[in-house]
Amino acid sequence: MQRAAPQTFDRVLSSMCTEPHPAAREAAERFLATNPGDPATYAEIGDLETRAVATLGELAGLGSAPPNETETSVAARDAPPYGYVTSGGTEANIQAVRSARNRADADDPNVVAPESVHFSFTKAAEVLGVELRTIPTDDDHRADVDAVGAAIDSETVLVVGVAGSTEYGRVDPIPELADLAHDAGAYCHVDAAWGGFLLPFTDHEWHFGHAPIDSMTIDPHKCGRAVIPAGGLLFRERAGMDALAVDTPYLESTSQASLTGTRSGAGVAGAAAAMDALWPDGYRREYERADDLAGWFADELRKRGYDVADVELPIVVVDLESPTFDALRDRNWRLSRTGSGLVRVVVMPHVTRGMLRRFLAALDEIR
Ligand SMILES: *Cc1c(COP(=O)(O)O)cnc(C)c1O
Repeated sequence: MQRAAPQTFDRVLSSMCTEPHPAAREAAERFLATNPGDPATYAEIGDLETRAVATLGELAGLGSAPPNETETSVAARDAPPYGYVTSGGTEANIQAVRSARNRADADDPNVVAPESVHFSFTKAAEVLGVELRTIPTDDDHRADVDAVGAAIDSETVLVVGVAGSTEYGRVDPIPELADLAHDAGAYCHVDAAWGGFLLPFTDHEWHFGHAPIDSMTIDPHKCGRAVIPAGGLLFRERAGMDALAVDTPYLESTSQASLTGTRSGAGVAGAAAAMDALWPDGYRREYERADDLAGWFADELRKRGYDVADVELPIVVVDLESPTFDALRDRNWRLSRTGSGLVRVVVMPHVTRGMLRRFLAALDEIR
């Protein structure tokens, strides 16, 4: 029987996942049989997780506090950043909602978010029994601050802003959203699952150092070039993590904050290794490359008469007719559409100029 093989990346254009960094691949394999869910038993991977969270905190404006020697796990940390390596952005977002719900005092809790918010918040709302209020965005697909403000009430536990939206790569006005949240006694969460490894090299105000936000999702397995599964959840205050901790009677460690129990040491080790290799210079080079390439690609599409949205972070959204989209899919281009039927090209590390030239050649042939 033929051995199954994964897809190659040479025609993958709409995914937010990419080829892991070689160091991440190697570390993941080395730590395959470890469980960061029980860091007292698996202390070595616990240490790597602490390191990964420290680097994520540095990326996200929480400063760099070297881990101290006595702590055995991220859950036991007594200095910021507080957080852990999740299974992905979905778990991080669910946990951010859970933490806010547990800390706030609301009988009928709700979460207010722009409609550009990732669908993981729909899952969070269902699982946690909170109401999700999604608010129409402005003409440029960003959170409309006035409309968000109008939707907040005394039962609001969390206001969400997106820093690098999944469809358009837009960054919401985070400082304004954080102020609105705090005025209402709610927490503010930033979802930078995709954008978090690009935004440090831009002028956007998006992180803990720019605004009084309380928590953030930032995923090494997207633009961080870690192996899947590696998401990230960060809190400004220890209370954010504490609100997630449950007692664990039969583990060596006595409490656990993660949503999953046994979790992937490969994901954690891969995240730590990728960030060691790439933060900050490698990520900066990749951001500059992707930004330049996205701008060039958008221009090439416009020259061909296509309607292309302004490019903010390296996602190019273009209006292609359905038959063209179908013909490209038939030629094995892995493309997807936004909610409104537009085609979305995410310029991830595996997306090269040569690849986009081949794509444009295919497009020219089809039209
Ligand atoms: C991808 C993404 C998520 C979900 O992350 P997963 O790792 O797929 O669970 C959440 N939020 C945003 C903004 C994303 O782009």
